[in-house]
Amino acid sequence: MTIVKATPETIHDAAAILRDGGLVAFPTETVYGLGGDATNGRAVAAIFAAKGRPSFNPLIVHVADAGAASRLAHLTPLARRLAAAFWPGPLSLVLVKQPDCPIADLATAGLDTIAVRVPAHPIARALLQAADLPIAGPSANRSGHVSPTTAQHVDADLGDKVALILDGGATPVGLESTVVDATGGTPVILRPGGVTRADIARVAGGRVEIAGGEETSRPASPGMLARHYAPATRIRLDARGAVPGEALLAFGAQVPHHAGPMVNLSPGGDLVEAAANLFSALRTLDAAGATAIAVMPIPDTGLGEAINDRLRRAARNL
Ligand code: AMP
Ligand code: MG
Repeated sequence: MTIVKATPETIHDAAAILRDGGLVAFPTETVYGLGGDATNGRAVAAIFAAKGRPSFNPLIVHVADAGAASRLAHLTPLARRLAAAFWPGPLSLVLVKQPDCPIADLATAGLDTIAVRVPAHPIARALLQAADLPIAGPSANRSGHVSPTTAQHVDADLGDKVALILDGGATPVGLESTVVDATGGTPVILRPGGVTRADIARVAGGRVEIAGGEETSRPASPGMLARHYAPATRIRLDARGAVPGEALLAFGAQVPHHAGPMVNLSPGGDLVEAAANLFSALRTLDAAGATAIAVMPIPDTGLGEAINDRLRRAARNL
């Protein structure tokens, strides 16, 4: 049984698992989260693998307080007002990352922005204190399933994928957090949730936009609210090798000789390692001034599905 009642001892155990790169499920006031060390690319890759998502979307990073958030991201005056009003609580702020932000590229899906939240649930707060880490925490359910509001829901979906489920009873809000882009002067609601539009408008002096709504030119498609990182360099998929002038994105042990820029996502052919390296590899090769990035085939199983989804989008420049 992976479910344990949350106590100071089991929270301490969960923190140790997180620091070791393992995954634990924990209650927040919104829904149960599937937590991993947000600075550890392999832990973040394991989150995507456990959820079985066929694509990578950026995850919300949970921190203990606004001070911890400001070490990861630039808090605009608007962000400071929203944080003062709603943190701790069910509000995630999308902000520009600090230049030295230690968060794994995979957690933000390679974006220059990051969604951060300070949860209010006492167990989530105790876990953040004990782990002393930013915790990436999407909802603890398999992809396509509903968000879990009890430890038993988590166990049914992910019991065999997490080291520990901290049981804190039913989550009080039961709705996801509101995601607000606070990079500018006007809040833009990217996803409705536990904090209402009226609450946000009140704090922001009446101004608020809804992504995809009539009052904004910002597009949003359901489930894909984040703009995605795409390299500017052309991507050539299913390459057997790279020609002179190209950069090579390799995978596995059998790599053709290439004198130009090259990154191997995983020389051992490990898809978790490849996922953890994907976005930084694309950035490195994008900056190499190559005519194209030639990408070797990657098996379309497990995390390979999400890796190939991202590469196909990049090839279409999405
Ligand atoms: P979840 O972690 O499953 O509750 O979902 C995270 C939500 O936050 C999704 O709707 C993401 O699209 C959104 N999100 C996370 N990071 C960003 C970001 N950097 N920019 C825009 N949206 C984001
Ligand atoms: Mg979810």
